[in-house]
Amino acid sequence: MLLIKKEVVKQFTNYAEELLPDEACGLFIANNNEQEIDIFIPIPNISKVPHQFKFDPKVFIPVLHDIEKDKKKWLGVIHSHPTSKAYPSEKDINNWFYPHLSYWIYSIRDQDLKAYYIKDKDIAKIKIKYVFD
Ligand SMILES: [Zn+2]
Repeated sequence: MLLIKKEVVKQFTNYAEELLPDEACGLFIANNNEQEIDIFIPIPNISKVPHQFKFDPKVFIPVLHDIEKDKKKWLGVIHSHPTSKAYPSEKDINNWFYPHLSYWIYSIRDQDLKAYYIKDKDIAKIKIKYVFD
């Protein structure tokens, strides 16, 4: 199970709406508690292909350095599916190289948020608990 602040979910969903029709993507970070996501960091999507996302390395790499420097914890990646369900596509699965991180998908069409662990093409759903404060 993973905890996530409702406010963080709202930040992402607003951001994803702004980026339509493209997919939005970014990182989910824990400030101190390793089980609770309380920061969303947007990363520009530089994919030239629709229905895919690719982090802009010019932003992604420095952000990773900052996370480490500030002793925060990178817990997951999120991206949006503007017109499809909140389930990893074939390309999502093939392009995923962090089996220890949670993989979040927000379907704008269905207004549905789901999280998974993906390892060797095995997809396991993670239970999400929302934190309100
Ligand atoms: Zn996807």
